[in-house]
Amino acid sequence: MNCIGACVLLLPCTKNPDAPSAIQLLDEMSASSKAIGPKTTLAYRNDRLPSIEPMPAKPKLGQNFLIDAQAVQRIAASLGDLTGRTVVEIGPGAGAITGALAARAAHVIAVELDPGLAAYLQTQFSPGRVTVFTQDVLSFDFAAASVAVGRQLVVVGNLPYGITSQILLKLAASHAVLDRAVLMVQREVAARITATPGSRDYGLLSVTVQMYGPAESLFTLPPESFSPPPDVHSTVFRWRFAPRFAELEVDENAFLPFVRKVFAQKRKTLANNLRAAGFSSGSISAAFDQANIDSRARAEALAIEDLASLWHALQ
Ligand code: SAM
Repeated sequence: MNCIGACVLLLPCTKNPDAPSAIQLLDEMSASSKAIGPKTTLAYRNDRLPSIEPMPAKPKLGQNFLIDAQAVQRIAASLGDLTGRTVVEIGPGAGAITGALAARAAHVIAVELDPGLAAYLQTQFSPGRVTVFTQDVLSFDFAAASVAVGRQLVVVGNLPYGITSQILLKLAASHAVLDRAVLMVQREVAARITATPGSRDYGLLSVTVQMYGPAESLFTLPPESFSPPPDVHSTVFRWRFAPRFAELEVDENAFLPFVRKVFAQKRKTLANNLRAAGFSSGSISAAFDQANIDSRARAEALAIEDLASLWHALQ
């Protein structure tokens, strides 16, 4: 089946009832997030990227369009070799990144919620190179797309920042059919995603994302790289899907809820968070001994391996 036929057959996916909740991640992100300011109109600078007819940007859809041609090339290059690959682009907008992807990949699936932009995109690219889905990416069926193309997918997106955590959880839930992703998010969120244990930014978001594979920050862009400019800096990071659940012998559906409890209250010690989660003082102190964890430790000090040891010790 060719790409177009395969893509037409994709079905909307149902929500995974076991997927981790976005609420705690949202709380964590909002702690360091500035509100993203009002947007005006979409106005590409003609000297930097091809212009399109000005149309009102929709703030609710996180429409800050990339106008930095060099950044577009860096994002595409960060995906590595795309020969024979199908790339799913989340929120292609007016296609700033899409063209660079189409030039490198076998096929691009562009998932855009805004019907006006999706219709515009369809006039810009041959359906043989780019298939446009006018759809919410949160209901996009990555598994069906992967089956249709017979290979794991590569994902890219300058994300709508208001739904970053939901998109990350969606990708985590789809990890089995994904190879790697290069995503642009708010700078402070990227710092949390890629943080290491003991650092200020390390927490639930870091552990949740990194349980599905290593994440590394690549480069940061100022507000002037976008039209309209947001109030925040943006960072591009790469996420290679290589889940750690089997290696650490933890059950995904039990371990992630445990991690949420461990990081429930940043100001509390690990022991206090575990007590609040219903563990007895005796079982906590026995588990700390077994896992070789300091009784006064805070969750932020624990590497993923320590969290897994603690989880085992508490079983
Ligand atoms: N990729 C374009 C660029 O870099 O110029 C646009 C990026 S803009 C930050 C985010 C894009 O995501 C917008 O085009 C917006 O309409 C789209 N979008 C917002 N929510 C979405 C959703 N739930 N599913 C798919 N696309 C969405």
